[in-house]
Amino acid sequence: MSMGRYHLIADLHTHTLASTHAYSTLTEMVQAAANKGLSAIAITDHAVSMPGAPKPEEFYFSCLHELPLYHRGVMTIVGIEANIMDFDGTLDVSEKDFARLDWGIASIHHLGQEGLQDPNVEKSTHLWLQVAKNPHINVIAHSGDPLFSYDVDRVIPAFGENHKLVEINNHTFEVRTQNVENCKKIALACKKYGVPIVVDSDAHFEAKVGYFSFALQMLEEIDFPEELILNASEERLRAYLREHTHIFTNRTYLGEE
Ligand SMILES: [Zn+2]
Ligand SMILES: [Zn+2]
Repeated sequence: MSMGRYHLIADLHTHTLASTHAYSTLTEMVQAAANKGLSAIAITDHAVSMPGAPKPEEFYFSCLHELPLYHRGVMTIVGIEANIMDFDGTLDVSEKDFARLDWGIASIHHLGQEGLQDPNVEKSTHLWLQVAKNPHINVIAHSGDPLFSYDVDRVIPAFGENHKLVEINNHTFEVRTQNVENCKKIALACKKYGVPIVVDSDAHFEAKVGYFSFALQMLEEIDFPEELILNASEERLRAYLREHTHIFTNRTYLGEE
């Protein structure tokens, strides 16, 4: 998808029917990525603490690795969007489920978790510094919630050192507009510290796959360097997947590239 100065080749945070408040099948999401000229999509349905999410005993996440790595010409990365449960960065995904998946996303959702009451900058900074050390997580998703503002000068460099990709989430510009100012601050910190980002749609319907316009417009406004956008380069995405995930060994059924 081309938009202004940036051309993105992958959408690395999307949802399917399995999340129940999303409305397309996995195949429809992959086909939508193909139609938009993307070469990769990550399917990242919600972990168990989100209402309506598949439960661990339902085997949804533990069987995803059996899908072909390439389907309809698109690399189909299988992952999960974990919920952060407390200020120590505890996630609601088992080691076993993580081990079978290619891609881990961590985010805070407003679900009234007991462990996330009375946030402040110090607690939220600690939270993200803990998540930064979690080896199963690749993407720090939509972390711009002003209620959970954190010290970007401490946290963003820690994300970089731990190979975490900081997400700029297009959906935020539509449904979490109170976060937009913070998102800009986070992007500016990534630029300052040279920390790679990913731009994602967080699509909950096929028509939204590859929809990045608002995020890219903001990045253009702050003159964000293209070379720090991981999903603006097929080569960079593959290098990251090779070095920081086990996708190429985890997925034994390759399908058709
Ligand atoms: Zn959702
Ligand atoms: Zn999501």
